[in-house]
This record gives sequence, C-alpha cells and structure tokens, in this order.
Amino acid sequence: MNYTPVVGLEIHAQLATESKLFCSCSTEFGAPPNSNTCPICLGMPGVLPVVNKKAVKYAIMMALATNCRINRRSGFSRKNYFYPDLPKGYQITQYEVPIAEDGYIEIETDGKRKRVGITRIHLEEDAGKSLHPEGKAEEVTSVDFNRCGVPLIEIVSEPEISSPKEAVAYANKIKQLLEYLGICRGVLAEGNIRFDINVSVMPEGAGSLGVRTEIKNLNSFHSLAKAIEYEIERQIKVLDNGGRVVHETRLWDEKKLITRSMRTKEEISDYRYFPEPDLLTLVVTDKWLDEISSTLPELPDARCSRIEKQYGIPHYNASVLTSTKPLADYFEQVAKLCKNSVRASNWVITEVMKVINERKITVDEFSVRGKALAELLDLIDDGVISQTAAKEVFSAMLETGKSAARIVEEKGLFRVSDEQAIREIVDKVIAEHPKEVKRYQGGKKQILGFFIGQVMKLSGGKADPKVAQRILQEVLDN
Ligand code: ADP
Ligand code: MG
Ligand code: ZN
Repeated sequence: MNYTPVVGLEIHAQLATESKLFCSCSTEFGAPPNSNTCPICLGMPGVLPVVNKKAVKYAIMMALATNCRINRRSGFSRKNYFYPDLPKGYQITQYEVPIAEDGYIEIETDGKRKRVGITRIHLEEDAGKSLHPEGKAEEVTSVDFNRCGVPLIEIVSEPEISSPKEAVAYANKIKQLLEYLGICRGVLAEGNIRFDINVSVMPEGAGSLGVRTEIKNLNSFHSLAKAIEYEIERQIKVLDNGGRVVHETRLWDEKKLITRSMRTKEEISDYRYFPEPDLLTLVVTDKWLDEISSTLPELPDARCSRIEKQYGIPHYNASVLTSTKPLADYFEQVAKLCKNSVRASNWVITEVMKVINERKITVDEFSVRGKALAELLDLIDDGVISQTAAKEVFSAMLETGKSAARIVEEKGLFRVSDEQAIREIVDKVIAEHPKEVKRYQGGKKQILGFFIGQVMKLSGGKADPKVAQRILQEVLDN
C-alpha cells in the first residue's frame, strides 16, 4: 500500500520586545532566575494585565508578511491547565478570534515552488521554565519564572506539507521572515523558535486525512526533519500491520531518535477556554494598519528577485545570498562597489561563507568588510592578479587586516602577462616533459591542460592563463 504523508506545523516564535506581553518586566534572556518578575507575571490575585502594543504590532507585521487577513477586532481567552511553571494556572492566549487568519507562504524544494496555507496567527504568553539541577534531578525541580509572560506568536499551518524536506523549507522560511522583519531574535538554541509537528499518513485513494499524532517542542531543523521522518515510517508500519494510529501527543527522544507515547491528546474541553475578563477587545484601526504596512521592510522573496535582476546573478546565488538579511546586505555592499557582480556573488557564497561557517561567526562579525572585498575583486578584473593569487591575498587580508593592494605589493603577486617571462616558463616546461610533448604532438590535444597547469605552478600562480595557453599552443603546434 502507498501512503501520502501529511504534515501541519505549529510554530511558536518569541517576539523581540523589551518588555513582556502584559507587564513591564524585562524579557532579557539569561538573567538570574526569577529576577524578571512582578505580581502580574507571577499571577498574584487582584492584578490587571495591560497589552504590550509593540507585541501586537509585531504580530501584525508577521501576518502581513504571510499574506494573512488581519482581524480588526480580536480577543484574548484563558486556556486553563495546571503546570508548575505556569503560576496563574492558565495561559492568556487568543482562541475564538485570533489577530490574523487565512494566509500563505511560498516554499522552494528541489527547485519546485509550492504554497503552504497559514491557518492562523495568534498572540499568547509564554510559560516559565522548570529546571532539573544536574546531579540532583531526582530530588529537586527548581522553577524560573523569567520567561512567564514573554510574548509569543503561534503560527499554525494548514496540513499541506508533504515531506520532512518541505517541513524544513517551511520552518526556514518562517524563521527568515521573522528575522527580516526584525521581530524575533531567531536563536533556536535559546528557544526563540519552537516547532510542534502534526503528522498523519493517508492511504492512496483515501478521501480524507488520516489520524494524526502531535510532537511538541522541537527546537532544531534537524530534529524537526528526523521526528517527521520517524513518525511517517512508524505510522505506515502500524497501518500495514492492520493496526490503528492513536490520536496522541508523542515525545521526541533526541538521543534514540524515536518518538514515544506521552499522553493522549487533550481535547478542547480539557482547557475550559473562556474570554479573559481583564482585557478589552483588541481593535486594529485602519490608520494603524496602514502605518504598519507602509513601514514593512523588503521581504526575502522580493529581495531575491530584485537582487537576481539588478545584479544579473543566477537565481541559486540570489537565493543563498538572501537567506539572511545581513548576508544580503553584505553582498549588495560588495556588488555595488566592484566591477563584476557575478564574481562578487560567487566569492561571497564560497570564500566568505566558508570562513563564516568554519569560525561559527555571523557575517557582521566577518573582518573583511564589503569595501575591502570589492577592492580585492577589482584587482582580478583589472588583470592585476590572477584568481589563484586573489585567494592567497584574501587569506592574508583575513590574517592581517591589510588592504588587498598592499598585500599584492608586499608579496609581489602581480600577474605576469609579460609575454617574454611566460615564454621562458613555457620553454622550461616543454624541456622538462618530452614524453607529454610527444603525446600531444601524436594527437592527444587534451594534454594541453596539463601544460597550462605546469606553467601556472612554475609561475607561482601569477601567469595569465590565457596568455600561457596561447604561447603553449604556438610552441607545441610547431
Ligand atoms: P490542535 O489545537 O489540537 O493542535 P488544530 O486543529 O489547531 O489542532 O491543528 C493543529 C495542526 O495540525 C495544524 O497545523 C494542522 O494543519 C495540523 N493537522 C490537522 N489535521 C491533520 C492531519 N490529519 N494530519 C496532519 N496534520 C494535521
Ligand atoms: Mg496543537
Ligand atoms: Zn512581570
């Protein structure tokens, strides 16, 4: 039997506001436990929440970026459940009418574009954190309420994702949008973005979706993909053996790479939702919405197409370069200042990104700034140095912080296009390789590449390969 996997994602993103959603406590990450708390976020009786306007603005920005309809009137509800790190005994969230609905984003996998629907985006507060101190995890659970009340948006997708790869592309796109908008710090390791996955499989020809399981709180793209992959296979096995998939919440075991049953899924009624009596209806006026729309920055898809056209670079290069905003900013700086933007795009993607990945730094921390790289690249296009020499200059720039021109000067890396100098090297190479010369003259013309390589080597990468090729052919063909 063939099955089609069906996946829906619920993504929680922490909004990068300075204060919490309903009080003025700081949202700073890593502060001493329980130092960012007050009677409101600790859930003391008699206190009143006040909505953080910036958090609402950020939610609207994401809704606009994902083509959602903004509800002009939405509201908050209490979602009741008992948990040690939720002191109020309920979470304030948006239930019946969320701030935004009915959007979509576009993803690309293996060169194919696809639309994935966004069901809704709503605002809610985060819970605190239970800590299990090392060595004492058996006896002690401590609780840190700093995260209580930190603003989140939950972005719920339609069940329209069909593979682990598409799920990662979708999650990546959401992360990219959040970062371009500047509304989320986007550090997965600090829990800024968390994924809940819903997975089911549909037998070929079935008219309706299969029973789903839910896996909560994944915090890396890797575990997202692995958990979906595992769950698809597990469900297929269950069904093939004549069993039934149970609607439940499962736990992802990071070490064993399996999912385990955790609890049967809560039903809506378990949460006893009711309207939050301490907060008014959330009203978004036309004026405010216009203001927010008009200040929205250029988003990744638009920037990718623009960069592709404006600088005449391949689509692949443009999509890699726009994967993050700082990288796109860096590239545009180089491209604007140098003569050859295709070369600029290739250098940023290969040489610059290699160093950034190796050193685990961000492009903003990268020491060779855009202007300095542009100067180096122009030396190639002006015929001053060869591509090989340029790589050597680039490493020296990284180590010393000196300019490209200065390093070329100091190391004497000027490209040799002086015919006489190259002719001497050619003669030397030919004299040293009589066997290869015979093979070439016997008709094996491909061996020319070998000779060019030898000339380049002897010249320390400084010979102009075009001149070398011309002279070699001249000499060898006679
Ligand atoms: P809940 O509130 O219980 O999590 P929702 O109806 O809000 O339930 O759905 C949550 C997520 O589950 C959505 O992202 C949705 O796309 C996804 N989903 C719903 N049905 C299925 C299904 N049969 N298979 C996979 N995903 C599903
Ligand atoms: Mg859910
Ligand atoms: Zn507080």
